[in-house]
Amino acid sequence: MLLRSFLRRCAPPRRLSSWPASACTALAAALLTACSSTPLPPWPTAPAAQTPGAARPVAPPPPVAPAPSGGTPPYGASVSAKFPDPPTVYDTPGLAPGRRAFTTNAELGQWLESIAAQARSPNKLARVFHAGKSQRGAPILGLLLTGDPATDRASPDTSDRPTVLLIGAQHGDEPASTEALLVISRELAQGMLEGLLKHIQVIVVPRANPDGIDAGTRNTANGVDMNHDHLLLNTPEARALARLVSEYRPVLVVEAHEFTVAGRYLQKFNAVQRYDALLQYTTTANYPEFLTRASQEWYFEPMTQALTAQGLTSDWYYTTPTDPQDKRISMGTAQPDTGRNVNGLKNAVSLMIATRGVGIGRMHIQRRVHTQVTAITSVLKSTVKRATDLKRVQSFVEREVSTQACRDQVVLEAAATPGQRNLDFLDPETGAQRSIHVDWDSTLALRPTKSRARPCGYWLAASSTAAVERLRLLGLQVMRIAESGTALAETYHETAHESGVRGPIAGDPETVRVQVAVQRRAIDLPAGSFYVPLNQPRAHLAVAALEPDTPHSYFANRVLDELAQTARIMVPVSLVFEDTE
Ligand SMILES: [Zn+2]
Repeated sequence: MLLRSFLRRCAPPRRLSSWPASACTALAAALLTACSSTPLPPWPTAPAAQTPGAARPVAPPPPVAPAPSGGTPPYGASVSAKFPDPPTVYDTPGLAPGRRAFTTNAELGQWLESIAAQARSPNKLARVFHAGKSQRGAPILGLLLTGDPATDRASPDTSDRPTVLLIGAQHGDEPASTEALLVISRELAQGMLEGLLKHIQVIVVPRANPDGIDAGTRNTANGVDMNHDHLLLNTPEARALARLVSEYRPVLVVEAHEFTVAGRYLQKFNAVQRYDALLQYTTTANYPEFLTRASQEWYFEPMTQALTAQGLTSDWYYTTPTDPQDKRISMGTAQPDTGRNVNGLKNAVSLMIATRGVGIGRMHIQRRVHTQVTAITSVLKSTVKRATDLKRVQSFVEREVSTQACRDQVVLEAAATPGQRNLDFLDPETGAQRSIHVDWDSTLALRPTKSRARPCGYWLAASSTAAVERLRLLGLQVMRIAESGTALAETYHETAHESGVRGPIAGDPETVRVQVAVQRRAIDLPAGSFYVPLNQPRAHLAVAALEPDTPHSYFANRVLDELAQTARIMVPVSLVFEDTE
């Protein structure tokens, strides 16, 4: 099985696959030392000391009544019997006995306010804040929880404790994500996870897409799948989250989702989903190798163990195309457009936790929430356990990325590696487990499909203000040139053009796909135009946004109108910048 064989190897498999784990560390160290002037942190392997308070299980709130798990099932009792309710009974507003609706937006606000009010103490801070506004004007609420009361919203990253950002309901039809984050919020504020706040601070955004929840639809009010909007930042919902990540610079970002249970799987394989949870970390070109290892060893492995200990099954996240003839199964995308991948390129560990829930209403809701709570509790504890190591790794990779400017090649696009494997499903009639052999596109092993010499930075014409504003929102430093200069650059020249191209996601806007050749020449850099240096920690987001011939780029998506608005600066430049930003 691919999962098991991957676990035996070091990340990334492409380079280190034949090495045993111990040699792997040494080789990775040697490789990184060889290509960097930055001192390499030793890879910590010994378990950190247990943190008091962190090892306790999440105690269930006192049971109030048997949980409602009704709904119109897309399958019979024999399948349902495979998913019994957990021993814990969760009691958020939307999970109250007899309820038919999940927690409303108004109830969510009241819940967070009441948690914050009750949690106030001299050595703890719990504060509700508006992270932004949805397209229909609903507040996108956040809860800051910290054991460091000196932390202030006005200067949020002053705490030396690592920050974790938990995000729910980017999709309006994935309710267990929100309900679980309400449970986690309470347990952190005044419950069994409270002890963790001595070591970390946590920001919870239980519902990133309140309009989608109100309407019962997956997408935001204007039909955009905000999960794929984290590079482009077209929606106010994605922009609110980008702002939070820039303000707090979390070491860990967790996105809670749910996945389709029957639908396409019933249609293509006459089977329904078996796994309680599908999980994935950042899988995109240019994600630092050490963060892949941290994701795998410090988070993914303990999380799957925690789920197994609760009798819950899990596997890598996967999906399948809408075309009923296309039976290919693919892991979550390698494109740098999802929060999982974009937040990874902000040098965080970035995880997606999806539960078995789309299309089944309230069925198994207690089990779905329990699955989320179990997985999220595990990753919070991992952060406490690895707090010091995470800071060191993050600081290392930030320097490492910065020192790569002007050097070697940078990957612009990478593709999944096709293969086959078996996945477990259930027979919709009998509930019997069926192992199905499927074509499987793995994004754990990425194949670079387009590379280019890595520039020292990008020049942007003065007219590129929409792009500049978004790059800054991603946390990139963009400077305005105060005095005209010249530089050796590569400019883009179109060799093929196709407009009106739609992407693979339903509701994708039309994009422009071009092929380009680059030409090296001296160019003028007029006063008032912009420079994005690549010797900065989030440099790979500039690459993702500004190389025009990729599907997710700002040019392809019409944030930049002309190829001539961008040039690749190929030598270090000495320029005078305005003292803005
Ligand atoms: Zn989702």
